[in-house]
Amino acid sequence: MQTPIHNRRVDVLVIGAGAAGVGAAIGAARNGMTTLLVDAGPTIGGELLTGMTIDGAVNARGELVVGGTLSEILEECKAMDGLVGIFNDYRLIRYICYDPEVMKMAIIKVMARYGVELLLHSFADDVVVNGNRVTGVMVRNKAGKTLIEADSVIDCSGDGDVAVMAGAEFEIGAKDGDLQPISIMFRMSGVEAEPLLRFVREHPEYVAVGESEMIRDGRTDKQLVESLYEQGQPCVFFKGNGPLLSDAIDRKEMFPTALIMIQPTSGPRKEVCINSTRVWNVDPLKTDQLSATMSPLFDQVWTCVKFLKNRVPGFEQAHFAAVAPRLGIRETRRILGEYVLTDEDVGTGRKFDDGIAKGCHHIDIHGRGRDQVRIPVADGGSYDIPFRCLVPKGLDNLLVAGRCLSATRAAQGTARTMGPCIAMGTAAGTAAALQRTENAENSFRDFPVERLRETLKSQGSIIDGTH
Ligand SMILES: Cc1cc2nc3c(=O)[nH]c(=O)nc-3n(C[C@H](O)[C@H](O)[C@H](O)COP(=O)(O)OP(=O)(O)OC[C@H]3O[C@@H](n4cnc5c(N)ncnc54)[C@H](O)[C@@H]3O)c2cc1C
Repeated sequence: MQTPIHNRRVDVLVIGAGAAGVGAAIGAARNGMTTLLVDAGPTIGGELLTGMTIDGAVNARGELVVGGTLSEILEECKAMDGLVGIFNDYRLIRYICYDPEVMKMAIIKVMARYGVELLLHSFADDVVVNGNRVTGVMVRNKAGKTLIEADSVIDCSGDGDVAVMAGAEFEIGAKDGDLQPISIMFRMSGVEAEPLLRFVREHPEYVAVGESEMIRDGRTDKQLVESLYEQGQPCVFFKGNGPLLSDAIDRKEMFPTALIMIQPTSGPRKEVCINSTRVWNVDPLKTDQLSATMSPLFDQVWTCVKFLKNRVPGFEQAHFAAVAPRLGIRETRRILGEYVLTDEDVGTGRKFDDGIAKGCHHIDIHGRGRDQVRIPVADGGSYDIPFRCLVPKGLDNLLVAGRCLSATRAAQGTARTMGPCIAMGTAAGTAAALQRTENAENSFRDFPVERLRETLKSQGSIIDGTH
């Protein structure tokens, strides 16, 4: 049977509804574009719904470096009692904690405010290219195939699927092909913060603290865990090479991992999100390999639940509450753009004339076993992401945003966090809107970036003025 082909036309088409896609769709729609947001899966928000904190949005000094769309979504969370707050992990970063169940609704509320149209369960599997322009993307779902034509296309697929189908070059993983592990986040409720923090105060050697000079500020580990205790929030990073976790791994009571990271998601439910599980040697672009991680990851979730209940004060009466709605992928393709964000750019907190988003998370590369690379941004500051990192070489009307940006592996290891992903998305969506109204037939390579920066600033994005 011949599959029917439908046709649609929108001003801006966004493929992928993770953190970057959410930012892109809102950025375009806020600026008057008919905007369609397409995702292969059943939800909107990606990792924003798993319970992890939003990193890369508040630097170690405590300055907010991402505003705009993120602030608007967080306002909605707050209105529904779903914003827990900004906390210091006394290790490297400050992060934004929120209730992921509320986040599900907050994102959709903001989307609806601007009239973003959603198309779930729809996979982008082909492109129509005319010269250097992607004139349409073929999307497949239960209704058949739909050719969606658009003036601009924003690839927020995380994997750079659309850009690659259109001929963009890319790199993937480390030089030897290694990729960061696949993980799944989970949550536990009924966690008592005070006994947990007292335990940490008594055993500073179990946790990672003071890994950034800015956070350490001349203090000893003992003083840092005292501050952690005083903060009163279950923000704890048990390190894989510290005696608590390392001994448990040696005893096979825990699986090999670099961390058990505990972060609050709800005060009333006394709930935390836990980042610990990991499976290596998986190419997430090979769907059979990715799917096969589910069973071992769920086994690890239960192993970690038992470990925490048996060994960690505050967890004795806690319960397993939820597992993330999807497998967590840290890295796949990095699209080669007009500029490649470098290790040095992020490490030194470099600023650019065409900076359109910021990040501040440390270089964060999860390795094998107990390994994890964690290198802070200098002086607790932030770096700029230039617009050119969103412009794939050789394509005129397509932008990428999110974890598939143009960056070295280490630079992606910080820019992949959700703060910068939302900010990049917002910039890409806003650029697509300006392109259509002011610059229609031109390439994004000739784009008036100063105009974009001004528009983003007028709409609440943080573009300059931070360390
Ligand atoms: C385990 C783990 C822990 C992390 N911890 C943190 C943390 O604590 N704080 C933080 O800020 N960041 C964290 N990160 C990083 C961050 O969550 C992600 O890098 C970020 O969310 C990526 O967003 P994205 O929008 O670029 O891509 P993704 O979230 O991957 O979204 C891409 C979307 O595109 C869709 N898609 C893909 N291909 C297609 C296609 N062909 N057609 C249609 N749709 C498609 C997918 O279904 C998906 O929804 C973590 C990541 C992982 C995996």
